[in-house]
Amino acid sequence: MTYVLAIDIGGTKLAAALVDEEGSVLRSGTRPTPRTDVMSALAALIAEVTEGGPPPEAVGIGCAGPLDLATGTVSPVNMPSWRGFPLREEVRKLTGLPTVLAGDAQCFALGEHWLGAGRDSASLLGIVVSTGIGGGLVIDGMPLLGPTGNAGHVGHMSIDPNGERCECGGRGCVERYSSGPNLARWALDNGWSPAPDEQADARALARDAAAGDPVAVAAFERGARALAGMIASTAAAVEITTVVIGGGVSAAGKVLFDPLERMLDDVAGLAFVRAVRVHQSTLGVHAALAGAARLAWQRT
Ligand SMILES: [Zn+2]
Repeated sequence: MTYVLAIDIGGTKLAAALVDEEGSVLRSGTRPTPRTDVMSALAALIAEVTEGGPPPEAVGIGCAGPLDLATGTVSPVNMPSWRGFPLREEVRKLTGLPTVLAGDAQCFALGEHWLGAGRDSASLLGIVVSTGIGGGLVIDGMPLLGPTGNAGHVGHMSIDPNGERCECGGRGCVERYSSGPNLARWALDNGWSPAPDEQADARALARDAAAGDPVAVAAFERGARALAGMIASTAAAVEITTVVIGGGVSAAGKVLFDPLERMLDDVAGLAFVRAVRVHQSTLGVHAALAGAARLAWQRT
């Protein structure tokens, strides 16, 4: 049996695993992401997962963005100590193995396509809806990364060129409508008030929407319509058959997915766009690690 080493790097957690060609995990480990000297923590985690085990053949890394695949460097928003950090080269030097890198949302899409809700689909869009909105495309089974690795930034597709200014500098981005903080912001602006012991976040909003609070329901419908516009546009551009949605906001379940289905039915026109099926993530927090393993296997 042969293995690859999969690594998932986020602002709060580092994860690594030895994964075989079927996607089975032999050994795995996690540790919190330190504020400084992340590379030492990563090296210790890699040692913990690989020492005494079968030697892996390649390394696949999913990392929070932004990143630049042309240079193999990363500058994760939530990891201030890494700016233009040469992650691919550092891991290649550390392990002596062929090393491939992609964004964490791209690895999410690849993982769901390989082992999750998008299994057996021809072409897939994976969307991570949480504090922001990330995405990744898998076309004919292969990840679409782009020259610098930034393909799939669907959170910053404009669904309203006359809309509000986004933090990215663009206007009318879907993230401005459908991310967790923006769902809660719109609801608060429109008279929603969470229970006194609750934080005014998307989780509380989802609970209130499920209980029938009209403003909370309207917030999810508005967010779902923006997502539907983005999904229909992406489908028209690259002919995806399947969409898988993960991230914290996807845990809202029916209050997000039911209106999304209705809005997509309203927004989509062409038959191949109307045929797109939307699913909730089945791998959850493990999707990106699975995708990182798949990335490594595809390059071996
Ligand atoms: Zn934007």
